[in-house]
Amino acid sequence: MAPVGTPRRAGSALPDAPEDAARVMAFVNTLSGRDTAAPRERLTSYEALVDWARAKGVVPDAAADWLRGEGRRHPGAASRALARACELRETLHALFASLDQGRAPSAAVLATLADHLGAACTRARLVPFEGTLQWAPGPTSSLDHVSAEMARAAGRLVTSAELTRVRACAAQDCRWWFVDETKNRSRRWCDMKVCGNREKLRRFRAKGGSPAKGSPA
Ligand SMILES: [Zn+2]
Repeated sequence: MAPVGTPRRAGSALPDAPEDAARVMAFVNTLSGRDTAAPRERLTSYEALVDWARAKGVVPDAAADWLRGEGRRHPGAASRALARACELRETLHALFASLDQGRAPSAAVLATLADHLGAACTRARLVPFEGTLQWAPGPTSSLDHVSAEMARAAGRLVTSAELTRVRACAAQDCRWWFVDETKNRSRRWCDMKVCGNREKLRRFRAKGGSPAKGSPA
């Protein structure tokens, strides 16, 4: 069970806050349609979690290969690691949902997030970076590596001003999470062409109108 080495190349940039926000949003969005009768789960197996992390640049190829192999050799531990990743994801979702609705997060949500962060930081290293110290990934030696990376990214996000820009798409059957980068914080939709137009059409029809020229069918 020899771990692969520290995945990040010497001299490569450490994660910054915008990258953290995009990755954390993508992580929380791996379960979508939470408020609908047919939620869509993308983390259907430990392998799916590792594949997702590789695709988003959360872990490099070598670490992903090692995690897939270890997951196949230790299926019980892999399913516990998947459950832990989903627990972190749903904790982040509950935190964002509270803030989106103007409510303070519950003590249980904050305690679970702190528990994940504490575990994640014991697996990481502090390294000098451009006059500051930054958390860098430790060796990939645990099936919880993806959770640890996501917990540290979330830890940076929730202690930054970026957190105040996290929004859920205003379409009730979507609720996709995004970071509102507009100056006046006016973005309401995950995608104007999809949910924005759909919602405009729905309101127009509710008023008894018919689709205007150029509106989606
Ligand atoms: Zn949407």
